[in-house]
Parts: sequence; C-alpha cells; structure tokens
Amino acid sequence: MPYDPSLDETRHDLERLKAMTERLPGLVFQFYRSHRGQIRFPYLAGASRLFGDAEQRQRLFEDASHAFDHVHPDDFPRVMAAVERSAKSLTPLTTQFRQHYPDGEECWIAVRATPERLHTGILWHGLMVNITEQVEYQAHLRELSDTDSLTGLPNRRKLMSSLEREISLSNRHGTPLSLMIIDIDHFKQVNDTWGHLQGDKVLRRLAGLCDTLLREEDCLARLGGEEFAVLLPLTPLSHCEALAERLRHEIASHDFGLPQGGVTISTGIAEHRIGELRDQFLERTDRRLYEAKQQGRNRVVGP
Ligand code: GH3
Ligand code: MG
Ligand code: MG
Repeated sequence: MPYDPSLDETRHDLERLKAMTERLPGLVFQFYRSHRGQIRFPYLAGASRLFGDAEQRQRLFEDASHAFDHVHPDDFPRVMAAVERSAKSLTPLTTQFRQHYPDGEECWIAVRATPERLHTGILWHGLMVNITEQVEYQAHLRELSDTDSLTGLPNRRKLMSSLEREISLSNRHGTPLSLMIIDIDHFKQVNDTWGHLQGDKVLRRLAGLCDTLLREEDCLARLGGEEFAVLLPLTPLSHCEALAERLRHEIASHDFGLPQGGVTISTGIAEHRIGELRDQFLERTDRRLYEAKQQGRNRVVGP
C-alpha cells in the first residue's frame, strides 16, 4: 500500500490533542441534555480534579444527574437558569459558581460553552476553569476601594452605597433609619499645635472608640478629613440622639494622649423621611452639624 503521510499526521495530531487536553489546567467538555431532561457529559477532559477521579468522571459520560450535587446551593438556581436561557435562545452559556471539591475545599468555577441543537436535545461544547484566585483578588480590591487606609473604617464610597441600600429598605418596610454626621472641633489646632502625626493618631483613636460603642449593624464610616458618619438602621431619632450624646460624652472625657486639652466633637443627626433622596438626607443632617458648630461646638443637634 502506498505511504500516505497525512494519515500519520492525523494520528499524531489526535495523540497530541489527547495528551494536551489531559494536562489542561481546566476542563474541556461536551454537555448533552435530551429533550426529556436526561443529562450527561459525552466528553470530559482536563487535569482539573473538579469532577473527582477518572472513575467518577467515567460515570458522567452516561449520567450527569449528580454532577451538580456539589454546586453551592446559593449558586445552583442561577446556573440552572443560565443553562435554560442558553438552551432556549441558543446563545453561549456563560456563568460562574462555587463548587466543593470532594475534599471539601471550595472553589469558583467559570463556564463558557456554545450550544448546538441536535434532533434529540442540546449539546454544549465548552470550557470550565478554576477562577478562585481571580475572585479572591477582586474581593480584595473591592475591600481596599471601600476602606479608609488611615482608620480601617469604611470610607465615603462605602457609606454612600450602604446609605442607598438602607434608604431603599426603610422606604419599602417603613422602618426607621437614622444618620449622624460627626466633625471634630478645632481639629486644625490639634494639627497645628501637636503635628500631623499626632492628628492622625487622634483620628485613629477616635474611630476605634466610636467603633467599640456602636452596635454591629451600625455603619461607622470616615467621610473624609476629620468627619465621620454613623448610619443606624432600624433606629428612630430618639435612640440615635441618646447614642450621639453618649459618643460625645465618651470622646470629651477620653484621654487622647495629647499633652494638653481634650478632643470634642459636634454632631448633626436626622431620621430619614419616606421618599427623601440620599443626598437630601445627607444635606439635612449636615445642616444640623453646621448648627451644632454655630451654637458653640461639643454638642448634638437634631431637627
Ligand atoms: P471646626 O470646629 O469648625 O470643625 O474646626 P476644624 O479646625 O476642625 O475645621 P477645619 O475644616 O478648618 O480643619 C479641619 C482640619 O482637619 C484641617 C486638616 O489639617 C485636618 N485634617 C484633615 N484630614 C486629616 C488627616 O487625615 N490627618 C490629619 N492629621 N489631619 C487632617
Ligand atoms: Mg470638617
Ligand atoms: Mg472640624
């Protein structure tokens, strides 16, 4: 028989492909769902331990009904909805979910797959990759962008989004929501007299002191400079006022380690009115703070 080099090349290519897919840092798969809802993975290759050992994977070729048993229950409905959408519209499947490895470790998996309509059902051709590191890094970046680096408190950005969320909850459920805006009195003098580093120390101490006096659900944030805010969900103005007075008193009597004199704060307080926009609520509270300064500082002013 005459020698046909293309045959050898084809065989060589297939072997190479097999060797490569078995080493891939993820999974290449075909996922089939019949019109009757039976599911299986006709093809599954890669070095990921996502679906267990070779024997466990072998079973998925026939029946994948238990393949999603380890998907996080919070993510499962979203994944199923994405599969459904892709099947209906024949558009690519893109989703991500948390999954437990057989040893209990949790990881994030991203899926990208293209559907193909067959007579008997839908066949997806796709990839699964472990994206745990990227998801953790994104969470870390989000944390950094929401945190004030000097005090470790949530920053203005974070307060604004919490405020938005709490206002919408308060509007929906008719629950009280109060806000304090706190400003250190004559803080410029602290800096001018004792230096900027001492000033920073006072800001950190004051943040820590307020934090210990507040409840877990109260959101204390640094708005910027020597200004702080406390968002108090489920709290009417009378409780907010009592707490603001307590903070004012504790701070005025606290030893901040300054060679001379203490630190006082002025606080504006307000309770959210149904339908009031976030910035209106902030401005109204800020006007109370301004009045507290006008009235001589070291005091709490409400409506
Ligand atoms: P008032 O009672 O009217 O609030 O007077 P004040 O001096 O506190 O107000 P002013 O707005 O004039 O000054 C605020 C000062 O806060 C000015 C600035 O030097 C200081 N400041 C702002 N941010 C920081 C910071 O991160 N560290 C330090 N050490 N000081 C800061
Ligand atoms: Mg200020
Ligand atoms: Mg000030």
